[in-house]
Amino acid sequence: MNVIILESVLFVALLAVVGALFVTALGITPLGRRLRQSANRKRIDKQAELTCPIHGLQREQDLVRLSAGEPLCPHCYQEAVHGHLD
Ligand SMILES: [Zn+2]
Repeated sequence: MNVIILESVLFVALLAVVGALFVTALGITPLGRRLRQSANRKRIDKQAELTCPIHGLQREQDLVRLSAGEPLCPHCYQEAVHGHLD
């Protein structure tokens, strides 16, 4: 019984080591570098979408979706619909 438990623990430890090596290898290899660069591009694109040229960076949950489907800065929407409120 103890042998089975010991084997199970060792197998789980082996899986953890293989997983850690895989994650580490992804960071070093050209594929890992490529994936990280793609993630960086997506992060910067997302930040650019959230940045209003007038009011700066906005939180994603505060954006207003227009009927055309395009998100808009809440301050710009407020000014466009209700006039200048600041
Ligand atoms: Zn704005």
